[in-house]
This record gives sequence, structure tokens and C-alpha cells, in this order.
Amino acid sequence: MTSLEMKRTQLYINGGWVESESGDRLDVINPATEESLATVSYGGASDARRALEAAQAALPLWRQTNVYERAAKLKQLADMIREKVDYLAVAMTMEQGKPLPEAKAETMATAGTFEWFAEEAKRAYGRTIPHSANHKRLITMRHPVGVCASVSPWNFPLLLQARKIGPALALGCTSVARPASQTPLCMIRLFELIEELDLPPGVANLVVGSPAEMMDEFMNNRICRKISFTGSTEIGKTLVQQSSAQLKRLSLELGGHAPVIVFPDVDIQEVAKASVIGKFRNNGQVCISPTRFYAHQTIQNDYLVSCVEETKKLKLGNGLEEDVDIGPMFEAKAMDKADALVSDAKTKGASCLVGGSRATRFERGYFYEPTVLADVGGDMALMTEEPFAPVMPVLDFDTIDEAIQKANDTKYGLAAYVLTNDLSAAFKMAEGLEFGIIGINDTVPSVPQAPFGGMKESGIGRECSIEGMDAYLETKSVSIALN
Ligand code: NAP
Repeated sequence: MTSLEMKRTQLYINGGWVESESGDRLDVINPATEESLATVSYGGASDARRALEAAQAALPLWRQTNVYERAAKLKQLADMIREKVDYLAVAMTMEQGKPLPEAKAETMATAGTFEWFAEEAKRAYGRTIPHSANHKRLITMRHPVGVCASVSPWNFPLLLQARKIGPALALGCTSVARPASQTPLCMIRLFELIEELDLPPGVANLVVGSPAEMMDEFMNNRICRKISFTGSTEIGKTLVQQSSAQLKRLSLELGGHAPVIVFPDVDIQEVAKASVIGKFRNNGQVCISPTRFYAHQTIQNDYLVSCVEETKKLKLGNGLEEDVDIGPMFEAKAMDKADALVSDAKTKGASCLVGGSRATRFERGYFYEPTVLADVGGDMALMTEEPFAPVMPVLDFDTIDEAIQKANDTKYGLAAYVLTNDLSAAFKMAEGLEFGIIGINDTVPSVPQAPFGGMKESGIGRECSIEGMDAYLETKSVSIALN
């Protein structure tokens, strides 16, 4: 399959499909074949403005729509996504590269996320607070923030938008979604389903186009009350500066550098298998990807041998083919970066036990061999920069205190993993780790009901869960003096 049959390739603004004002179009490339899948409308500031204005016009009606009605629409959307899982997932695999089963899992998680917010929005309660004066009463009311913009990267093209659009719509905000330029196709297909919901025009909008121009419009247009951004720490920092002009409400989900601590009590073979599956999922192009592996020094060698064995079993290939474990990397630049990180590590003394280069057996596509490195030192770039690559460095530790110190020795604080059956060790690690998400014997710790987000330079705020809903609500304090 070279191209993808798309019913729609335009922007979705004010309840209709429209071309960008400039008429520009962008090719979407399949990373497995380097061929164009489709061309889509590619807009700029004026398209973002049209979408914000439509969202603003829709706000009064949507805000007043009963939360049970809003929830029913989102529940319907979740059901439609489940019915159309193949339709959405094939587009995702073709534009992003991940194997089809992973794309289906992300699509089902997208449905689950919309459904969870549909349910939980019904419980966005205010409070009654006892007053210190006898004749006064004090209550809080929750108020939707207003028009919300959402910007997301290419690595989870549906799920990351669902975490933003879901709470916005459920809580009475209206939404302008901007996916990454290179992965708009599954989002366009999602909006075909949203169109079938028959929402009031302007409640949910989709714009694809220049990131800098559109973000500029979101930042400087007073209609836009909140921006939720998922992406690199580097861009996140520039957004914090830009947001100061209007004190724009910002949620930031940024980069990570997740440590994995492997204690000596584990079943090494089993834990190596889980580590390798976790590490190479989506080619390591995951914000919470296990990134640095610290095995206890008494088991480091055996763990390394098992990890290499498990890595050799992985099948690399086009994500649409059966039995493929790892697809192509997302773009040529990502593959070059992986190569540069591995070369830097080797130059500084790392030993490459498997992989370590582009997969030259493929004529086309951005395939990189899953790589395991030993003899890794803190001076290597992959130990400080977020690698976002299929590279697994294995180091060691001795005591729990040393493990905590090594794990926390990073500017990032998104996810960390602990592999152990020792309850005391697990608790001490969970208490000592400076990370927003901690998986204990769990390399997939993300569900809609759990807060998702990072400490330090990994972001501001939390998505999912009741904490993620707070980001879309203002709290009004109402004080009433009685006669
Ligand atoms: P990125 O370059 O920061 O891009 C993310 C999004 O921002 C894309 O939609 C991109 O658009 C847009 N963008 C690019 N330049 C911009 C600008 N000047 N102003 C505003 N928006 C701009 O990140 P990436 O490298 O593509 O994505 C991977 C990063 O995302 C990693 O650091 C990863 O850890 C992080 N991430 C974090 C989470 C989390 O939940 N914490 C989840 C997933 C990924 P274009 O695509 O059109 O350039």
C-alpha cells in the first residue's frame, strides 16, 4: 500500500471542512517507505484565528449545555472510535511508523480517554465552606476556562490530543486542536467521526499548519484562554516566555529521561524481557520511555546477556506487516540523531552488544537496529540528552541510596521505573524518586484515571485524572451575606 485513501484532507473549522486561506498543502510521508501518503491543507495564523473565533462563538451555548448531554456525545465518540479502530490505526501506522497492534492499542486508549472524561466531568463538584461570620455563606463554583488550544507531537498522534480535547469538551470549553504537521491523517479521520456527532458548529476545530505562526496566534489572541502543549522541553521553555504577555494559562507535558532500577531479587529473564519490550516500544520515541537502566551490580552481567538475547528476537519492519515488533523511526533526522548518540557513546568507551547502526537491509525507510550498550559513562550525550531512540544503555548500582541518587541526577522528572519484589525497596524508591510517574514492575503506567506529568524540566501541571480536569476549570469563590 503506497498512498492512503483519505475522504478529507482539509482543516475542520466551524463545523465544516475548509482549505487553508493560503491554499498551501503539505505532503505526509510514510516513514517505512519514504513515499507520500496524501497531501493535506496547511494553514497559518489566519486559519488559527478563524478556528478560535468559531470556538468563541460556540462557547456560550456549549458551556450551558447540560454536562450529561456533553458526556453522552463524548461517550458516543468513544464508541465510534472503537468501531473504527482499524480505520484510525492504519492511518496512524502509515504516517507515524508504529506497528499496527500498537496503533490499535493507542486508538483504544484514545476511546477510553474520551469515555473517562465524559464520566468524570459529571463530578466536577464545587464546595461549601463554613464561614467565620454567622451571616455569611461561602461556596465555590467551577467554571469552564473557555476556548482552549491544544498542540501535540507526532509520537502519539491521537492519544495526546484526546487528553486535551476530552476534558475541554466534557467540561464545557470549546477546542482548537493542532496536531504535528507530519501526523495529521489519523486526527483528520478522528474529526470525520466528530463531525458525525453533530455538535454545535465551532465546538471542536482542527487546524494543521505552521507551528510557530499558529502558536503565535494562540498566544496573542485574547480569545484563546488556555494552551495545552505536549512536546520538547526546548519549545516548552520558549512558550513559558511567550505566555507572559497575556499570562496565558499553560499546561506543559515535556521531555523525559526515565531511569529503570533493577533489583537483585527479580527473575532476570522475565525482567529483561519486560525491559526490552518497554525500551523499544515505538522505537524509544516515547516521553516516558525507559531510558537508562541501572541493574544491581550482582546481576548486571546476567541482565545484560538476557537483554541482548531478547533484543535479537525483535523483528524490525513495516508496521503494517504481521509479526513486526518495531517499525521505522519517525523521520531521517531521528535516525541520524540515534546514530550520533551511539557514535558518541562508542567514542567515549561504550561497548555495543547488539545493533548500533542503521538497518541497511531495508532499501527505503528510516530503520535503526535496536541497540544495547554496556560500559556507559555519565559523560556520554545519551545520558543527559533525551535520546528518543531505540538505544538501551545498561549501567549498575550498589545501594538503594546510590540508585536514588543516580536516578535523580537529571534535569528531567517525568517517569521512573523500579523492578523488584522487595516491598521495602519499592517503597523507598517510590518515596525517593523525583519523578511524576513511577512504575513499579509496570512499564506501562499510563491510564486516563491516573495523573500524568512531570517534575523539574519535564513540565508544568498534570493531564488525565481529576488533576487533569482542574486545568480546564476556573474556581470561583462566591461569598453571600444573608439579610
Ligand atoms: P517539538 O519539536 O517540541 O514539537 C511538538 C509540537 O510542537 C509539534 O506539534 C510541533 O509542530 C510544535 N512546534 C514546533 N515548533 C514550535 C514552535 N516554535 N512553537 C510552537 N509549537 C511548535 O517536539 P518533538 O520533538 O516533535 O516531540 C517529541 C518531544 O515531545 C519529546 O521531547 C517528548 O518527550 C515530548 N513528549 C512529551 C510527552 C509528555 O506527555 N510529557 C508526550 C509525548 C512527547 P510540528 O510537528 O509541525 O513541527
